[in-house]
Amino acid sequence: MTVDGAWVMFQVFAGIFGLLFGSFMNVCIARMPEDRSVVHPGSACPSCGTAIKPYDNVPVLAWFWLRGRCRACKADISPLYPLVEAAFGVLAVLLFRSVVKDIAFLDAGHLVAFVWYGWLAFAILAMSFIDLRHKIIPDEFSIYMVPIGVGGAALLGHLGYVGAPTWQQSVVGALVGGGLVSAIMGAYWLVRREEGMGMGDAKLLAAFGAWFGAFPGVVGVIMIGSIVGSVVGVGLAIVLRTGLRLAVPFGPFLGLGALLWMFFGTELGFRWAKLLAF
Ligand SMILES: [Zn+2]
Repeated sequence: MTVDGAWVMFQVFAGIFGLLFGSFMNVCIARMPEDRSVVHPGSACPSCGTAIKPYDNVPVLAWFWLRGRCRACKADISPLYPLVEAAFGVLAVLLFRSVVKDIAFLDAGHLVAFVWYGWLAFAILAMSFIDLRHKIIPDEFSIYMVPIGVGGAALLGHLGYVGAPTWQQSVVGALVGGGLVSAIMGAYWLVRREEGMGMGDAKLLAAFGAWFGAFPGVVGVIMIGSIVGSVVGVGLAIVLRTGLRLAVPFGPFLGLGALLWMFFGTELGFRWAKLLAF
């Protein structure tokens, strides 16, 4: 096989990996807010409870050959299911191309980095759907991620991968991410006597700090998330004429900031360093 052919093959594998985890993401989104196990029992129709056969559980495609209906009870299956799967499949391919860049770099360090960043991307997407729908950020996708972030940074350092913080930077990042937001929350409460962000946002930023380090890392994520969140929040308030009392969950915007940082953070970090040097 040619080098180009092998490179395409690896991207296809990354995409399949993404589609399968996208399928698991649907389970997390449906069950975690209800405190149900995400592994047991296996996938079942939410309407009639019939177990879904493996051949009807193929990501994206199954929705089409079932024509969006349960095989047993014919209840409609939301098009959100295949959309979530497709979204994470595409994200996995983009991430693979962004982390590995070229087949010449394909080694243990880059593969672990892909899985490590991929796990964060999974948590971000799943968390965003759950926060939009239920206004909660599960601990599994925020504060419990911190040891995975620090452990991954340590392993990547050991493998000689350079595109991640050291484990020390990762620990400081988690402390700054969680602490900074707690400080902003405290200040906001003193001024307005109401909560601007929740504890869930602080725990989420602790995780982002573990993946990106303190500066520019998690500070950059907060800046991007706040700018996008403010623009969308003010826009929605004007369109819906609700005034600024409209409660928009902040988690998905921080998540978007983290995803953008995952892809463009190195570039942005260099530019900021240049700006600060003058
Ligand atoms: Zn059914």
